[in-house]
Amino acid sequence: MEGLVEGLLGHVSVRIPGTNEMLIRCRSQKEQGVRYTTADAIRRVDFDGHGPHLGEHYRVPNELPIHGEMYKKRLEAGCVIHAHPPDALICGITGLEFRPIFGAFNIPALRMALEGIPIFPRSCLIARAELAAPMIDIMGQKNICLMKGHGITVTGKTVEEATVRALNFNTLARITLQVALTGRKAPDIGVEDIQELPDLGSTFNDLWVWRCYVKKLQEEDRR
Ligand SMILES: [Zn+2]
Repeated sequence: MEGLVEGLLGHVSVRIPGTNEMLIRCRSQKEQGVRYTTADAIRRVDFDGHGPHLGEHYRVPNELPIHGEMYKKRLEAGCVIHAHPPDALICGITGLEFRPIFGAFNIPALRMALEGIPIFPRSCLIARAELAAPMIDIMGQKNICLMKGHGITVTGKTVEEATVRALNFNTLARITLQVALTGRKAPDIGVEDIQELPDLGSTFNDLWVWRCYVKKLQEEDRR
């Protein structure tokens, strides 16, 4: 709905706690893209993509290693999102820097700019574990990676946290790109203002924002 995924490409997974398995969006014979995922296409598989009832009915994503390798290496990761948002793509391929150019407009997005966004320089499909490993190394302990010429990978403890994080990064990328298109230079905001910005907590930052988007989706679907 928010344009982070173009067409079919993108996938979301969630770790099944206490196991080496996840639930992941697969492609069924009725595939229509991420937004129109049906519950039956979300399958339980292990971190290498093996699971029951796949076979001829469901295919795991080609880029499953983004998810499986992340869960193996990042034990705190409960959700992984991989998407291809166009604004972030353009920022990546033109080398636009993510700087703290706004404040209270979106505090979590500002913090991303302050903390820095890891950039994975390769634009290939991450279809093998050996290709996922260097991306996960570049991420370190951060929860976002901009994959140059490709897309983004975002992690979070929950689906809600990872989704809102991906949306916030999309806002940072969109504003960064739009500012660059004006041709004007945007200064960084002042340190004093940064120090005044509170952490509003995960209920405010994640859960309520998630609910707002769920409501918006329900309204769009009714139209
Ligand atoms: Zn991809």
